[in-house]
Amino acid sequence: MEILIADHSGFCEGVERAYQLALKQAEQGRPVFMLGNLVHNAQVVEELKHQGIKTVKNLNEIPLHTNGLLLISAHGVPPEIYENAKKLGLEIVDTTCPWVKRAQNLVKQLSDQGDAIVIVGDEDHPEVKGLLGWAGASAIVVEGPSDLAGIESLNIFQMGVGVVAQTTQSEVNFEAVVSRLREKFSNLTVYKTICGATSKRQNAAIDLAKKVDLMLVIGDKMSANTKRLTELCSATGTETHQIQTGSELDLLWIKGKDRIGVTAGASTPEWVIAEIISLLRSQRQPA
Ligand code: SF4
Repeated sequence: MEILIADHSGFCEGVERAYQLALKQAEQGRPVFMLGNLVHNAQVVEELKHQGIKTVKNLNEIPLHTNGLLLISAHGVPPEIYENAKKLGLEIVDTTCPWVKRAQNLVKQLSDQGDAIVIVGDEDHPEVKGLLGWAGASAIVVEGPSDLAGIESLNIFQMGVGVVAQTTQSEVNFEAVVSRLREKFSNLTVYKTICGATSKRQNAAIDLAKKVDLMLVIGDKMSANTKRLTELCSATGTETHQIQTGSELDLLWIKGKDRIGVTAGASTPEWVIAEIISLLRSQRQPA
């Protein structure tokens, strides 16, 4: 049984940067609070907790006058979080990924010049919630082409419209939405704000999936980019499973398979990938 690992898998530069920044704060001896999960990976969040960093769901959970540090996650937050944190006297350590920051700046600029904005992404994802905050009132979220039914009736399409992507969108889905929008409207400007790390991971995962009998995608179920890798690998027709830990590996999947491909989401740490590969290598296939 051959195990092939995709190029560009595991921590991207944005997640690595956020993780290292967080670890550095933990060494300072001041209370450190993380607003939501720094990245969508339970093992990383657990490790940060182990380093003494406390996760809070909102700023109200932070006691007053703590002289604390507030970690803004790699996914970014809406502008009011910065204002509210300052009012609470918290020092902000901003780990927003530069690719996300670039998308935030873009939607703010579009909004300031009076354009409406269509964000192609998952409306429940923190990055998209943050982008909505920077984009202002004339912004909507579209997850896929099926969300576009009846969209002509929205007033926003009487304005100039900028179309942007959640940074971890699949290129295929983004292009499908853009193409359907172009059939309906001529006043669109398209900004493909998908990050370089996402494109590289998706292309490498698809290439590998086409060459193997089974694809394993390692990453947290909450991770949008990992979910997309799973969908894209599966769409090649190769049997694909997403797992977060070695305990989720089912031996029956590898039975009779000669070549197994492995990739991992951008928030999956190296130590988890190594553990699963080692487990895979140590398995004897069931008779
Ligand atoms: S996946 Fe892209 S946008 Fe997200 S943290 Fe990594 S580099 Fe940044």
